[in-house]
Amino acid sequence: MYKIIIILVLLIILFFMVRRAIRDWGESNPPNAAPGKDVMIQDPVCKTYVTVGTAIVEETAGKTYYFCSQDCARHFKRSPTS
Ligand SMILES: [Zn+2]
Repeated sequence: MYKIIIILVLLIILFFMVRRAIRDWGESNPPNAAPGKDVMIQDPVCKTYVTVGTAIVEETAGKTYYFCSQDCARHFKRSPTS
C-alpha cells in the first residue's frame, strides 16, 4: 500500500516539474518574437488557440496578431480594444 502512495507522490512531483518547464519555455518565446509555425497562439477576438502556421496574421501598430479566421481579423480591425 505504501508503495502506491510513494509512486503517486512521485508522479505529482513530476507533473509539477514538467508544468514548470513548459511555462518557462513559454516565457522564453513571447508571442511577438516571430514564434515557430507549430506554436499555439491565442486569437484575441474569440480566444481560440490556433497554430501560427495556419493563423491569419495581422500587423497593427508594430504588433503582430494571429486570428483563427478572416472574420476574427476583420472584427479586430473594427474594434481592436474589445
Ligand atoms: Zn477567432
